Amino acid sequence: MLTQKQYGLIVIGSGAAGIIAAIVAARDGSKVLLLEKLSQIAAKLKATGGGRCNLTNTLSNEEFMARFGRDGRFMQDALQAFDHKKLIAFLEEIGIETHAPDGFRIFPTSHSSLTIIEGLKKEMERLGVEVRCNQKVTRLLSTGKHIDGVRTENETFFAPNVIVATGGLGYPLLGAEGNGYNLASELGHKVTDLSPAMMPLKTKEDWVQNCRADTIAKVELRVDIKKHKKLRAKGDLIFTKSGIRGPVVLDFAREVTPLLKKYGEVPLLLNLTKGKNEEQIREHFKQELVHENIKTVLDLLKTLLPEALSRELCRLAKINPDDKYKKIEGKKRDKLISLLAWTPLTVTGHDGFKMAMITRGGISLKEINPKTMQSKLIDGLYFCGEVMNLDGPCGGYNLQWSFASGYLAGKLLR
Ligand SMILES: Cc1cc2nc3c(=O)[nH]c(=O)nc-3n(C[C@H](O)[C@H](O)[C@H](O)COP(=O)(O)OP(=O)(O)OC[C@H]3O[C@@H](n4cnc5c(N)ncnc54)[C@H](O)[C@@H]3O)c2cc1C
Repeated sequence: MLTQKQYGLIVIGSGAAGIIAAIVAARDGSKVLLLEKLSQIAAKLKATGGGRCNLTNTLSNEEFMARFGRDGRFMQDALQAFDHKKLIAFLEEIGIETHAPDGFRIFPTSHSSLTIIEGLKKEMERLGVEVRCNQKVTRLLSTGKHIDGVRTENETFFAPNVIVATGGLGYPLLGAEGNGYNLASELGHKVTDLSPAMMPLKTKEDWVQNCRADTIAKVELRVDIKKHKKLRAKGDLIFTKSGIRGPVVLDFAREVTPLLKKYGEVPLLLNLTKGKNEEQIREHFKQELVHENIKTVLDLLKTLLPEALSRELCRLAKINPDDKYKKIEGKKRDKLISLLAWTPLTVTGHDGFKMAMITRGGISLKEINPKTMQSKLIDGLYFCGEVMNLDGPCGGYNLQWSFASGYLAGKLLR
């Protein structure tokens, strides 16, 4: 005879949001089943911060919410229940030390996401959370206005509470295929428009590939379209085989994607010289040229930029990098200095969700109670993490939101 499996809570998805929800509910005495469709838990968490896991940051709750834009206030109750200080205390309690090397972004002291995953895994084991991998949920079961359980590809599980923590659409190899949107919409929830955010950008100019290894600090980016001149950003940038990436690009991608849709391509101007304008660059050159060892154009440019990038800018200015700077004709010097102050690049596209760290859009917040993360349509159904329509910038914002919303959902408050 087929036995029915009855739990107090079923959590779908073993990311940051789902795991913390499972732990909180189990600590409160619920019999918890955590279902994960991949063969291992927390695949995306493992990849965060380049494997270093930027867990959260030190902003106050008010400042934190402001960085999520108009809907940021939706997070108020979740942050009150579990802000960065409470997350740090929780991690400490389960044996994980954290620190903020730059005073802002918080990482595990080990600088390895594996420490976080191991700690969370142990805590789930201690609490008796039943974790089942290779279980893809295909349907939510409900009678009338109440949730009853879930169906996976080959089994059915029952519980009066179900938390959907299935993440978004970015990096599908790490489990994000948008399953949660279908599960929720089948029960009447609205899903907003979905678009990829926080991803590298491709450029028309292929010289970038020659500067691939270079990370340039404090780059200023601005859109070179008259109507959108105000769109600017500053931060570290890395050249890639086909374009640009790095924190400043990931954040700026959200400004650029709507323009890409509208204009087909987006011209950018980059200041790669830590904000120096033409006059300051000329002055800098004057001071450097008094040194014995600074003679050629390349010698000079290397005082500001890595060698590969210096060579590419010479090529763009049609200057031989090994020529003596003083012998370069005035027009060419002007061209080089203007290129140093504002280097043009044209964004032509991106790899979509395949390389998007975040999904913009999700399950509509209007149908979720911010005090509990419970559905306003179906009793006992909860949401947490990236599956909801909220996304923040780079810097620990999205994991903190996943942890905070997962904490509140796991409280199963009605
Ligand atoms: C490469 C990368 C680096 C990042 N770095 C950072 C960072 O350093 N700091 C930061 O704050 N944010 C970072 N982010 C964003 C952050 O990782 C996510 O916002 C966050 O992990 C979302 O957590 P989640 O629990 O909501 O979803 P996820 O972590 O995506 O977890 C969802 C889980 O649900 C499972 N699942 C989906 N559908 C089903 C189903 N039908 N049945 C069963 N299981 C299912 C998935 O397999 C997955 O394991 C990064 C993102 C990426 C891609």
